[in-house]
Formats: sequence, C-alpha cells, structure tokens
Amino acid sequence: MIDASTKLIALLGKPVRHSLSPIMHNAAFKDKDLNYVYLAFEVDKENLGKVIEGAKAMGIVGFNVTIPHKIEIMKYLDKLDKEAELIGAVNTIKINKDIAKGYNTDGLGARKALEEKVGEVKDKKILIFGAGGAGRAVAFELAKNNFVIIANRTIEKAKQLAEEIKNKLNTEVEYSGLNVDTEDIDIIINATSVGMKKGDKPLLTADKLKNKIVMDLVYTPLETPLLKEAKKANAIAIDGLGMLIYQGALAFKIWTGVEPNVKVMREAILKVLEDKDVTKEL
Ligand code: NAP
Repeated sequence: MIDASTKLIALLGKPVRHSLSPIMHNAAFKDKDLNYVYLAFEVDKENLGKVIEGAKAMGIVGFNVTIPHKIEIMKYLDKLDKEAELIGAVNTIKINKDIAKGYNTDGLGARKALEEKVGEVKDKKILIFGAGGAGRAVAFELAKNNFVIIANRTIEKAKQLAEEIKNKLNTEVEYSGLNVDTEDIDIIINATSVGMKKGDKPLLTADKLKNKIVMDLVYTPLETPLLKEAKKANAIAIDGLGMLIYQGALAFKIWTGVEPNVKVMREAILKVLEDKDVTKEL
C-alpha cells in the first residue's frame, strides 16, 4: 500500500511510456514487502540537473536512467562507481545523504543473463553487433576476460569504441562493419535495435550460426529474426529478457540492499508481454 512512508524510485528517459521496468520493480518490491514505488518520468535533457537537485531535497532514493540520458546525467552526479566510470555511462543512481552516485548495471546484467544459460564466459571469441549504449556496456564487460570484435553499421563508432576499450582495459579488441566473418566466433550478441521493427531482416542467417551461442538484447519481440535463425541452426538462442531482469535486479540491490526474486520479475514482465503486443506501441 502506498502511504506516507513510501520511498520513490524513478525512471528518467525520453520516451519512457513503453518501459517494462515499473512493472518489474513494483512486482519485486511487493514480493519482498518493501515500501517502495517505481514510477517513470519523461524528462528533457536540460532538466536533468534540476531533477537531481530536487531529488536530493525530497529524499528520493534512486533512479534508473535510459535513452537518451545515460551519458548526459553524469554531469550532475557527485560520484561514479568503477563500472560506470569504465563504461562511461550511468543507468542507475542511488542518493544517500545528499550524495548522488552513478552505477552501470547493463554490462554485468548481460553477463549474468548469458552465464545463466551457458556457464562461465571466459576466453571466448565474441562478436558484438552495435556500438551504442547497450553495445558499449556489454563490450566493456565481456572484453575483461574474452576476445571481443565490435561490428557496427557506422564503422567509425565501432573503431572508437574498440580503441577506448583497448586503452582502458589494455586488451586487444577488433572492429568491423556489419559484413563480418563468423567462422571462428563462439558467441554472437545483437546489441543493435535491429529486430524491433516488423519486417526487420536478421543480421545473420542460419548458415552463419551453426554451433554458436546467439544472444539478442532486443526483448520486444522476444523471438527476434536473429533468434529464429539461431533456432533453425540448432544454436543456443538467448533472448533479451534475461539482461533486462538482471540489470534491474542489480539496481534493486543497490537501492534497497535486498536481493530481489528474479523469478517474480520475469513473471511480471512475461505477463505484460503476453497480455498485449508491446511491439505495436514502440
Ligand atoms: P543506441 O545507443 O541508440 O544504439 C543503437 C545501435 O543500433 C547502434 O549501434 C546503431 O548503429 C544500431 N542500429 C540502429 N539501426 C540500425 C540498422 N537499421 N541497421 C544496423 N544497425 C542499426 O541504442 P542502445 O541503447 O544501444 O539499444 C540497442 C538495443 O538494445 C535496443 O533494441 C534496446 O532495446 C536493446 N537493449 C536491451 C536491454 C536489455 O536489458 N535487454 C538493455 C539496453 C538496450 P549506428 O551506430 O550505425 O547508428
């Protein structure tokens, strides 16, 4: 029940109306009997500073940050944890005694989703499509103990990201355009938005996916064209729901100190995805 002691967690982004995070977090708060509420706010870039100042004044506990504010928000924070600093973007904020600290749970969330299905991911050759926000987080995380190749439509962005990772992690990273050889690759991850729109073509067809692990970060729809091809090839196909849940579970722990029940989070989202065709709203 919402009462005078309820604590607020808020999502900041634009747009936010399609977000599944309120459903997921509110179900998890209820499950753990925590007096928190999670709401989504559509905020313009020029108001982010006022939001953080207001939040400190009001005792708001924390935030998630999504497109397009994950980098811009950093200007208004007092501290960054080491993952947010490394990745150069923030998706979670905790406010504690007037100090706003930024975190990034996207990379580790993706690793947990992957490892939940295939065990420890180490010393693998991983091809990541995409060099946007999600691609950055996943590439930084997986390049810590794997060999990563970043493939992006705008090759210059793939090059920049590969160089940044090389410099920060002191490890070899390759880059390429979308037309890339998959022969020696163990794991393929789609971190582009390709597959969200009806009629999108898969980035790779089944003949290129045999014996691979294929993960798509897109979760609307859950079965993307790429994952359909992976299934045709009898490859291991992992959808984007796991990353959504684990990045959320890590944020939940940061805000509340409590480990959420990921099964409750997954069921809450699946119910919404089944009840209506979310893709029509995007
Ligand atoms: P973003 O920062 O806007 O980056 C978009 C990426 O997609 C860029 O690499 C862009 O390439 C590429 N792209 C867009 N349209 C393309 C096309 N028609 N052909 C080839 N490449 C195309 O977005 P983001 O935050 O990284 O998100 C990317 C996807 O990941 C979204 O679908 C999002 O829903 C999903 N995601 C999932 C989770 C999760 O928890 N499962 C979390 C975050 C994001 P250019 O650089 O060439 O434009």
